Amino acid sequence: MLRIGVLTGDGIGPEIVPAAIAVAGAAARAEDIEVEWVELPFGRSAIDSHGDPVPGETLCALDDLDVWVMGPHDSASYPAPHSERTPGAVIRTRYGLFANLRPARAFPGVRATARDIDVLIVRENTEGLYADRNMFAGTGEFMPTPDVALAVGMITRQASERIARVAFEAARERSSHVTIVHKANVLRLTTGLFRDVCREVAAEFPDVVADEQHVDAMAAHLVRRPSDFDVVVTENLFGDILSDLAGELAGSLGLAASVNCSETKVMAQATHGAAPDIAGRGLANPAAIIMSTAMAVRRHGEATSDGGLIATAGRMEAAVADTLAQSTATADLGGTATTRGFTDAVLERI
Ligand code: ATP
Repeated sequence: MLRIGVLTGDGIGPEIVPAAIAVAGAAARAEDIEVEWVELPFGRSAIDSHGDPVPGETLCALDDLDVWVMGPHDSASYPAPHSERTPGAVIRTRYGLFANLRPARAFPGVRATARDIDVLIVRENTEGLYADRNMFAGTGEFMPTPDVALAVGMITRQASERIARVAFEAARERSSHVTIVHKANVLRLTTGLFRDVCREVAAEFPDVVADEQHVDAMAAHLVRRPSDFDVVVTENLFGDILSDLAGELAGSLGLAASVNCSETKVMAQATHGAAPDIAGRGLANPAAIIMSTAMAVRRHGEATSDGGLIATAGRMEAAVADTLAQSTATADLGGTATTRGFTDAVLERI
């Protein structure tokens, strides 16, 4: 039996996370796999019930789990001091979830700006300019006077090397091409170190083609010639921005799946946020969190050599792709299906 944690979160979380659980549960049953869903307090509702968006009991429970699904959190709206450190940062830091894998692929049946996009963005997840997680104590942002704000970015050899390895290994399973994205013409020391370490790792993978782009040029190239890219490896903030761009180019942020991983743990988390503008209206596209959950199940299946879990993930992915191919789509994709209606259509296919 596989135990999977559930952190429902804020905004559209209570609409989309149950959809992912329903689809994963049905796919697992079809493979004769029993899943225990472990629901844990998290997000705005946990501030009300436990005085903390990530209560101690949630962290204790996650210590014993290898896989969990995290819904979006709207931490910018939390009352102080809870808004200082995002719940995602707390969890990513505690479990060393250093690799954020964000695929963007245009699905048949979906009106995509970039019909031929199929990229995997491999985003370093622990440092860079992310002030909520890049310091041992305190944060990487501070204000010496009310009119001056400073941010400290951090790039280390160790973090750059391990994310580069993830990218080059992933490329071997795809089209053997990695693009190293940096801004070393301006951020010479920080993103220059990132680039240099990625180059060193590239030398260990002579079978993988490695090239480089500045992040601003990369944004333009992704729009103009998306099919020229396979795996993109980059630091934290650049990866966050480029993956939203890639997700929209592939049709919608509502399709943009992602996982956060360490060597042993994997957390499904859609690329998009809590989308408070559409929350509670049945408009949210659950595809991204369903596909993120499938990615997490597949990764855990591969790590534990469990063919049933890999097949479960395959069923989920095929059912979503088939549903989209039949033009069942939520409003973000120009369709009329509700969150529930789309989920039911996926469940039917499973
Ligand atoms: P965060 O910084 O937490 O990632 P964000 O500021 O990038 O959040 P999102 O919450 O991702 O913003 O929302 C960006 C836009 O995309 C909003 O207009 C939102 O409604 C839309 N959006 C996000 N997720 C979905 C979804 N699953 N289905 C439909 N639309 C979505």
